[in-house]
Amino acid sequence: MRSLTILGATGSIGASTLDLVRRNRDAFRVVALTGHSNVAVLAALAREFAAEIAVIGDEALLPDLRAALAGSGIASAGGAGALIEAARRPADLTVAAIVGCAGLAPTMAAIEQGRTVALANKEALVSAGGVMTRAVAQHGTTLLPVDSEHNAIFQCLAGNDVAHVRWITLTASGGPFRDWPIERLAHATPAEAVRHPNWSMGAKISVDSATMMNKGLEFIEAWHLFPVGVERLRIIVHPQSIIHSMVEYRDGTTLAQLGPSDMRVPIASALAWPARMATPCEPLDLATIGTLTFRAPDEERFPATRLAREATLAGGAAAAVMNAANEVAVAAFLSGQIGFTQIVQCCEDVLACGLPSPPQSLEEVIAVDHEARVRAREGLELVI
Ligand code: NAD
Ligand code: MG
Repeated sequence: MRSLTILGATGSIGASTLDLVRRNRDAFRVVALTGHSNVAVLAALAREFAAEIAVIGDEALLPDLRAALAGSGIASAGGAGALIEAARRPADLTVAAIVGCAGLAPTMAAIEQGRTVALANKEALVSAGGVMTRAVAQHGTTLLPVDSEHNAIFQCLAGNDVAHVRWITLTASGGPFRDWPIERLAHATPAEAVRHPNWSMGAKISVDSATMMNKGLEFIEAWHLFPVGVERLRIIVHPQSIIHSMVEYRDGTTLAQLGPSDMRVPIASALAWPARMATPCEPLDLATIGTLTFRAPDEERFPATRLAREATLAGGAAAAVMNAANEVAVAAFLSGQIGFTQIVQCCEDVLACGLPSPPQSLEEVIAVDHEARVRAREGLELVI
């Protein structure tokens, strides 16, 4: 039996992870579960899985969480510091599934324990970059990618030397607007943007998929996880989301990972690694799927991948700045304050303001993130 903590247990990745745990109750003991504001769901999950502790990110909700857990014997805590404390509790495996840079400090705390971290929280790696990968190396942590593309690449690289890699190709569904004419994009609504054709996900990553910033963030994520160099990383649009990514070797062999568009597949791969566990997902029926198609990304309509590539080449604080601006802009879009095409424009504008010096520590990454958020809010003329 392995002990398990889930940071962001109340979200989409958290739910998929707990669905697998529910089907394998004998394999896992739950240490900590965290959520941000959904007290009822967090308390119910903590009770169902007999967690040691439940932590709510919004400290003002701690009394409600205490009340909801009364008589259960489950400890409770609240606030950003408590999330970090929870991540420090000994656990064989931590699933980092908080959305955004809010998950960075708890994810780093888990990494510093030197065990295994299954990373879904891509924004944390994009922002912290070398600070995080150095901590992984320093503490001897096993970092397992949960993002479906990176999990696919991880599997396709197994047993091979990255020196033999010719290309790593990230596949992209293209999102809900992949066939929209450029003029229509400015009028896209939040409801349309979160309606992803293939995947059911949290609101933020759904908007990122619509702008293609998700693929931009994943490009940077891949650059950190798989050291093949920026010129060996590329993106291809594959609307069916059956091939989750691929690796081409110098002998001309391409290895690809295929599977249903269900995050329980990559999550199961990380939970059971290096073994395998069963999932309830339907087997892949290629005869019914019939056709797999591919096309080059259109960076005129979706400039986010170009911006991410430029941020990777710029290095230093660029990725953290871009990510922070994107988080502010996506939240503003979701709350109806800005238009769809302003999201990536905001990232470009904030990057054009000039970059702070490269962050060397977690505190410096958080400071860069904070400053870029202020700039993004000013640039978008947001009230808060
Ligand atoms: P979600 O919005 O469904 O859930 C996010 C979780 O983070 C929730 O538990 C929420 O309570 C918590 N959270 C939000 N703000 C917080 C804060 N300020 N402090 C503490 N906790 C906070 O998001 P999701 O779709 O599950 O995505 C989680 C992460 O996984 C993201 O980084 C996303 O990019 C990545 N990811 C998701 C999918 C997917 O299919 N959903 C796929 C690949 C990668
Ligand atoms: Mg992905």
